[in-house]
Amino acid sequence: ARTGAPRFTLLREQMLIGGQWVGADSGEAISVTNPATGEVIGTVPRGGTDETRRAIEAADKAFAGWRATPAGDRAAKLHKLADLILANAEELAVILTTEQGKPLPEARGEIGASAAYVRWFAEEARRLYGDVIPSPWAGRRILVTKEPVGVCAAITPWNFPSSMLSRKIGAALAAGCTVVCKPAELTPFSGLAWGVLAEMAGIPAGVVNIVTGKSSLIGAEMTSNPIVKKVTFTGSTPVGKLLVKQSADTMKKVSMELGGNAPFLVFDDADLDLAVEQAIASKFRNVGQTCVCANRFYVQAGIYDAFAAKFAEASKKLKVGNGMEEGVAAGPLIDEKALKKVESLLADALGKGAQVLAGGKQPAQGGTFFEPTVLKGATQDMDFAREEIFGPLAPLFKFETEEEAVRYANDTEYGLACYFFTKDLGRAFRVSEALQYGQVGVNAGVITTEVAPFGGVKESGVGREGSKYGCDDYLNIKYVCLGGL
Ligand code: ADP
Repeated sequence: ARTGAPRFTLLREQMLIGGQWVGADSGEAISVTNPATGEVIGTVPRGGTDETRRAIEAADKAFAGWRATPAGDRAAKLHKLADLILANAEELAVILTTEQGKPLPEARGEIGASAAYVRWFAEEARRLYGDVIPSPWAGRRILVTKEPVGVCAAITPWNFPSSMLSRKIGAALAAGCTVVCKPAELTPFSGLAWGVLAEMAGIPAGVVNIVTGKSSLIGAEMTSNPIVKKVTFTGSTPVGKLLVKQSADTMKKVSMELGGNAPFLVFDDADLDLAVEQAIASKFRNVGQTCVCANRFYVQAGIYDAFAAKFAEASKKLKVGNGMEEGVAAGPLIDEKALKKVESLLADALGKGAQVLAGGKQPAQGGTFFEPTVLKGATQDMDFAREEIFGPLAPLFKFETEEEAVRYANDTEYGLACYFFTKDLGRAFRVSEALQYGQVGVNAGVITTEVAPFGGVKESGVGREGSKYGCDDYLNIKYVCLGGL
C-alpha cells in the first residue's frame, strides 16, 4: 500500500542538485516505509557517484556568491528559514513520525529544535569575529580573520533526521559555506524537506544540495572529491572511522558525532524522584535510539532497590504504539535489525543472571515494537556493559563506592554523554571532573540545547555542534601580517 505522499506539501521524492529537483541517472528508486505500519510512504532516487559529483560541483559554483553575501543578509535568510520551519512545524512533525516512528510530541520537539538551531546560527552569522593581535614588530599589524572552509558534505542518521541536519546546515550556511547533504536512507523525507524550505527561504540555488541513494558510493565521492573541504557526519563509530580514513587523502576537515555508551550514576544521596523522572526521559526518549540515551545505570547499593522499584513502575506506564496515536510514549524501533539487537542483548543478560522488572518482550502488536524494559542484576560481563543498546532496555548495575562508579563509567572507548545524581556539592564537582565525557548532566538526564556544545571525546568523535563553538568547524583561521606601515 502506498500512503501518505499526496497528503504532504513538503514531501519530495527527488534529489535537489543545483536548484533542480531530479531523479537518479539510472531511474532507480528506493522505497521508504513507515516503521509503525510497514506501509510504503514513497520513494527516493537511488543516486550514486555521478549525482553526488554534480551536487558537489553545484555547491562549488554557488560558493563564491554565498560567501560574498554580507553576513547580515545570510542571517536574514536563516531567520526566514527558521520562521518557515515553525510555520510548517506540524506537517514536518507528521512527516518525521511517519518515516521515523517517534511519538508525534517528540517529533514536534525535534522540529522545534531544528528551528532553534537555525535561529541560533542566524544570530551567530553576524558574530564571527576575528582578532587584532598586538604586534611584536614595529610598523606591522597582525590581523586574524575567519573564512568559510568551502563546500561541506554532511551525512546524517535516521534517529534525528531533521535536527541533525539543522545543526550542520545552519552552522555551515552561517559561516558562508555551501553544502551537499545525504540524509539516511531510512528517513530521507525530513532531509529532503530541508531543500524545499531552503528554496522557500530564498537561499540561492546550489547553496543547499541534497542527494539520496547508495550511501557507500555517495560517501566515497564526498570524501575523495578535492572540491569538498569538510565532511561532517553523525552516525555509528565504524562508519565515522571509515569516513575519516577516506578523507585523509585529501586532508579534509572532519567533524564526527559518533556512538556513545552513556552511564547514568545514581548515588545514595540522590533525589530519588528526580533521578527516576530523568532516567525515564534519558533512557526511553525515541525508545532509546539516541547516541546520548542512558545505556548503563549504575546505582549505589543503599538506593538500588528503591530506584529499581520506582523506575520499573514508571516504565510500565509508558504506552507503546504508533507514534501518531494520542498518548503513545514509545514508538516502534526503526527496523528489524534494531529489534534483533535488543533481543540478543536481553537474552545475553538473562543468560548471565539478570532479572526482568518491567517489559522484557514485544507487545501484542508485534512489528518492531518492544516494551520499555528494566533489568535488575546487570553485571560487567554482560554485552551491554560495552555495547551501545540503541533500544528500550535499561540495565541496572550495583556499585558501592564513588571511585568504583567512576571507574565503571569510564571503562568504555566512548565518551559522548554521561549523567549522575547526587545532592553533595563536593561530589558534583569531583565526579563531573573525573568523568571522561564531552557532556555531563548533574541531576539532569536530557541536556541537549542549541546554546550548549554537543560532542564527544575518545571514540565518540571530534568537533562540537551548536553553541558559540558550532561555527568553528566550518571556518578556517587566516592570519594576515600587514607590514611596511
Ligand atoms: P546507524 O547504525 O545509526 O544506521 P550508520 O552509521 O550506519 O548508523 O548510518 C548513519 C549514516 O551514515 C546514514 O546516513 C547512512 O546512510 C550513512 N552511511 C552508512 N554507511 C556509509 C558509508 N560507507 N559511507 C557513507 N555513509 C554511510
